Amino acid sequence: MSFDNLETLYRQVIMDHYKNPRNRGSFEEESLTINMNNPTCGDRIQLHLLVEDNQVKDAKFDGEGCSISLSSASMMTQAVKGRTVNEALEMSQMFSDMMLGKDVDTEKHEFGDIEALQGVAKFPARIKCATLAWKAMEKGIKEQEQA
Ligand code: ZN
Repeated sequence: MSFDNLETLYRQVIMDHYKNPRNRGSFEEESLTINMNNPTCGDRIQLHLLVEDNQVKDAKFDGEGCSISLSSASMMTQAVKGRTVNEALEMSQMFSDMMLGKDVDTEKHEFGDIEALQGVAKFPARIKCATLAWKAMEKGIKEQEQA
């Protein structure tokens, strides 16, 4: 696939998650809730996690913001569901590395749609949009571990 075609494909994947977000909403049962904002862009995310026995049982989000922040939240919730806490944290680290333009082994944790965001690394002003939901997930897990 040529570079231009890949860019187009990635843009389509991002817009699909933006327009049809996965895991939007909240839980009826008690869950971890983390609010995180990205004031430079105006993105606001409320992430809900069900964490039990060191596993992310389920994840949902609410919020408003740009296509990058909301599609990333959609992809992140999809990706970490059913993962162990350690896997989820490792994926978050890999995603941060990806945003720094580093080569990451995306096969290891089946990044799937998340790879569509790798182009964001070329736009430093948008990196915080892409990492917002991931940072919220990290914060929630760390708070739970301390509780
Ligand atoms: Zn944004």
